[in-house]
Amino acid sequence: MTKEHINYFIYARKSTEGEERQSLSIDGQLNDIQQIVKRENLTVIDTITDIASAAIPYNRPGYTEMIRQIKKGKATGIIVWHVDRLIRNELEDGELRWMLQTGIIKSVWTPNREYRSHDNALLISIEASMAAQYSRDLSAKVKRGNKQKYELGHPLGPARLGYLNTKFQNHGTNYLINDPERFHLIQKGFRMLLTGRYNIMQVVATLQEMGLRSRGTKRYKSAPIPISTMYKVFTDQFYAGYFTRNGTTYKGCYTPMITLDEFDKIQFFLGRKGKPKHHKHDYAFTGFITCASCGCFITATKVLKHIKALDQYKTYVFYHCTKKRGRQNCAEKHYTKEEDMEAMISAELAKITLKPLFAEWAINAIKEDSQHEIELRQKLLESTTQYLRKINNEVERLLDLRISGEISEETYSHKKNEREQMSLRVQERKNRLQNQIDDWETQFNDLIEFSKTAIEKFNLGDVHIQKELCDTLGSNWILKGKKLMFSRLEWFDTVESLITHFDEETTGSQPIKSYADYRQSTGFNVGILMLRRLREQIATFKQKSTLNFPTSRKNMGLHP
Ligand SMILES: [Zn+2]
Repeated sequence: MTKEHINYFIYARKSTEGEERQSLSIDGQLNDIQQIVKRENLTVIDTITDIASAAIPYNRPGYTEMIRQIKKGKATGIIVWHVDRLIRNELEDGELRWMLQTGIIKSVWTPNREYRSHDNALLISIEASMAAQYSRDLSAKVKRGNKQKYELGHPLGPARLGYLNTKFQNHGTNYLINDPERFHLIQKGFRMLLTGRYNIMQVVATLQEMGLRSRGTKRYKSAPIPISTMYKVFTDQFYAGYFTRNGTTYKGCYTPMITLDEFDKIQFFLGRKGKPKHHKHDYAFTGFITCASCGCFITATKVLKHIKALDQYKTYVFYHCTKKRGRQNCAEKHYTKEEDMEAMISAELAKITLKPLFAEWAINAIKEDSQHEIELRQKLLESTTQYLRKINNEVERLLDLRISGEISEETYSHKKNEREQMSLRVQERKNRLQNQIDDWETQFNDLIEFSKTAIEKFNLGDVHIQKELCDTLGSNWILKGKKLMFSRLEWFDTVESLITHFDEETTGSQPIKSYADYRQSTGFNVGILMLRRLREQIATFKQKSTLNFPTSRKNMGLHP
């Protein structure tokens, strides 16, 4: 039997990062590969290695070069130690799979097997992702401190009400799953609170009627859950998918019961944010601004003043240092009028306020620019869905075979389990892809929406809304003399340059009036660069799992 002749690249990669530390060294990989080359008598035209992280797309110079050479037709095969050497993230996965499907790559050899047909293209990526999972589990066994587990989204410790810890034999491979008896009940409680029509007593009573009880342990029997415990549940951000450890907030990898928006709204109904307990008076600009001179918090005082000309009394609110660290430590003598504070913040918000037309342009342009990425992800999503259907069909076929007695019980359960494991992972990947698609647009649109409406919300909103707007705008607020200073969040710099850019485009001798015209203008290319930067900033910010994103505050103007 003669095989069609294939030229191969040998590719080896070793990451220097944590989770891959245990994988085989480059030399070790190449040794194993040499054995296949000999055994299968393969033609190798070059050996390419990378020592880098592949968690970031396109950050493997050797790999990139190899793919370029393959596209040029230099070779149609790759030999690797394991397929996870080739694939570490979905974007590259898509490209490689496409190359396999279209026959640009005809063969991939690993010490265990050869992947050839177009059917095997998806198999490669699944096996790679299973390997990645395995290596994550493996490395979890090696003690690396809890922080990394938090970063992976594992809160650790006993499971919250509504969740269970999986209890695998393998230490370090446990994670949170939904408690089949309680998850939907607790979620129902959140939903009830969200309507704003029930108080916590009514909610707890309803849930008890529906059968909500604590998990029993060896020491304690299962019992109704006290209101105080339920109160803790409904005010715990954990249920919105974020948990806090040592002062840092992490995004959990478990299923949240509600969104952050909904959580915020419920807190409002429960009276936590709606009625701050620590302030006797409701002042918008207390509690987050400090004095430049001594670092104490700024407070507010109401003063009744007699206006002689009108013979009327009028109240004024002044902001000033609390001087809690002693008068001798503070040189600040100024009192700042509330109107002046408002004017300063208003002016800051004005700088980042996008006109509705500009907001529309920004959204159109970035959407168009991201179309390629979105399409790629869409395609991946479609093929993943197809593959999932295929696995499910196979499970059904196996059952038929078992019923007709063509396969043994043992074979049946082995094969079925194999399919189910696969299905689980494909499903997981599908969800992740779906989220990426949803996430991306929402995040960007939220920021644009924020920039469009912030000043209006500030002018119309109550003190709590004003406080939150300041918080979303930036941090480290300082009052010096009568001047307010703060560190603005990075992306607002980009928003500001974008506004200047749009202003320039729409004024001058040939003002642009419509998106279609803007699209044709030379300035468009400049705008796109800014929009890409903005998209990048949002993405990096999001990765840090910080919560200060306008999304969670999007609806704050709508609180009743
Ligand atoms: Zn002071």
